[in-house]
Amino acid sequence: MASQRDYYQILGVSETATTDEIKKAFRRLAKQYHPDRNPNNPQAAERFKEINEAHDVLSDAEKRKKYDQLRRYGAFAGAGRGGFGGGGGGSAQGPDVDFDLSDLGSFGGLGDLFSSIFGRRGTGARLDDEDEIETAIAIPFRVAALGGKVPVTLTLPEVCPTCGGSGGAPGATFSTCPECRGRGTISFGQGGFTVQRPCPVCRGRGKVPSQRCPTCQGSGEVRQEKHLTITIPAGTEDGTRLRLKGQGAKGRGDIVVAIQVEPDRFFRREGLDVIGVVPINLAQALLGSKIKVRTLDGKRVVLKVPPGTQHGQKFRIPGQGIERNGRRGDQYVEVHVQIPEKLTPEQETALREFAEKSGMRH
Ligand SMILES: [Zn+2]
Ligand SMILES: [Zn+2]
Repeated sequence: MASQRDYYQILGVSETATTDEIKKAFRRLAKQYHPDRNPNNPQAAERFKEINEAHDVLSDAEKRKKYDQLRRYGAFAGAGRGGFGGGGGGSAQGPDVDFDLSDLGSFGGLGDLFSSIFGRRGTGARLDDEDEIETAIAIPFRVAALGGKVPVTLTLPEVCPTCGGSGGAPGATFSTCPECRGRGTISFGQGGFTVQRPCPVCRGRGKVPSQRCPTCQGSGEVRQEKHLTITIPAGTEDGTRLRLKGQGAKGRGDIVVAIQVEPDRFFRREGLDVIGVVPINLAQALLGSKIKVRTLDGKRVVLKVPPGTQHGQKFRIPGQGIERNGRRGDQYVEVHVQIPEKLTPEQETALREFAEKSGMRH
């Protein structure tokens, strides 16, 4: 029976949680309740199943959308609204709902309704991250800000070209695996809960070759360099994780790329705004000046610095910041007044005269 508990509650995340937050919560809980860590504990086993089920639905955008729709109708405990009401008539349908509530009568209960929608019961208690590859890349500040393409080379497991993944040498014959008797899995029974693992002898194939493939030594896979071009969206922040669907191990897993944004020599970032420091001299600060500034995308802009400009004062260049989702930030020029470290005797005399005339104590 599929769980009727609220999936968001099971994972301890909010309704608005991102895929990333869901993944993190799932990993943490799956570790905590994994049957290997909780032998002879049926409650932990049940919890582990629930966690997997919740993750399975919430991590898949399509399934999550459907689940959210169902949840809005109070189909799951803890979702906050009363039952279906109205005997499951079509009149309860809201504008966004793309499943038919009138089907409800033909199911034994919400659990069945649920599994008919999502097509899977919570029996496959396994972490389905096996084919996911994680990698990290560092990209220049400007590429992150403006967007761009970055080449990445990864070594990924691919299907062995010699044996096509069977693990057998060309011409080898296959016989039933003596370890798992052809099932491909071995089971550990623990407190009424069974954990299944791929058989280590046949690697889950159920058959063993008379002679192992010389290319892959029987594993059925080889590691190959893969050259990818990653598209970095404009405004990418440090710590962003980009998911490349179906480009990972053996062409089916995902690649998750963690982006590290390198600091820039000139710019730093605050939200969509960029800030760059420009040095000016004492005369420019006191008398005013025009200074040349480069924008993020390399344009030259002339900025008027008024007389009496203070150290650290910021000037805005509108619309020259980072553009994201149709919004564009500004560029700020922060001026730093350079104080000469040494004066010639004439300069000193002139400055003393200036100070006397201005009544400056010195
Ligand atoms: Zn086996
Ligand atoms: Zn092979």
